[in-house]
Amino acid sequence: MTPAPAVVLLIEDDVSMRRFLRTALRAHAWRVIEAATAREGLAQAAGRNPDVILLDLGLPDGDGLDVAPRLRRSTRAPIIVISARGREQDKVAALDLGADDYLTKPFGVPELLARMRVALRHASRPADAPEAPVFEAGQVRVDLVRRRVYRAGDEIHLTPTEYRLLATMIRHAGRVATHRQLLEEVWGANYVGQTHYLRVYMAQLRHKLEPDPARPRLLATEPGVGYRLREG
Ligand code: CA
Repeated sequence: MTPAPAVVLLIEDDVSMRRFLRTALRAHAWRVIEAATAREGLAQAAGRNPDVILLDLGLPDGDGLDVAPRLRRSTRAPIIVISARGREQDKVAALDLGADDYLTKPFGVPELLARMRVALRHASRPADAPEAPVFEAGQVRVDLVRRRVYRAGDEIHLTPTEYRLLATMIRHAGRVATHRQLLEEVWGANYVGQTHYLRVYMAQLRHKLEPDPARPRLLATEPGVGYRLREG
């Protein structure tokens, strides 16, 4: 018996974009449900139990920014925002309102599939489940039980704040973490405006962990939005 295909709900009013995504996703064994309006999307999300939701931010009957938190109330499925807009504040707002990740149009199919895989993996893990005890990417190895960090086999000393920031990035591995999310999780709710803290500590982490801190491979900047820890 083959397992039932995973179901993706595509909320997008653009017909050609829907056709492109439908074809690409079906070719990769996804079952695709479609909605062209916010209203339809909310109904489908509540009734069809999708595994992942792709949400366009510009919908004819409502802004995706209003839709994201409403979807979040009716489903636990990860929400990936797909948006043509260059307006970073919209992506940030959607992420802070409950979306899990975003892709800016135009994007490639491999990138979309990779984001969907990461989203599914995070969603399938209960919030209180322990993380893998060791994180590894490239030359960096983090022992999350002993709180030790190695680069190319050598132990690297991190300050407590640097370590907290790295461990938080590992919890978000593969997904974007917004400035607000990182500041709140590492420093606390009173610090969400202090983006310069992040810049300083991210620079320190890169200096200690990246072979070329000016061209980070592990701790990537998502301009205007936040940071993404790359797993591969
Ligand atoms: Ca649209």
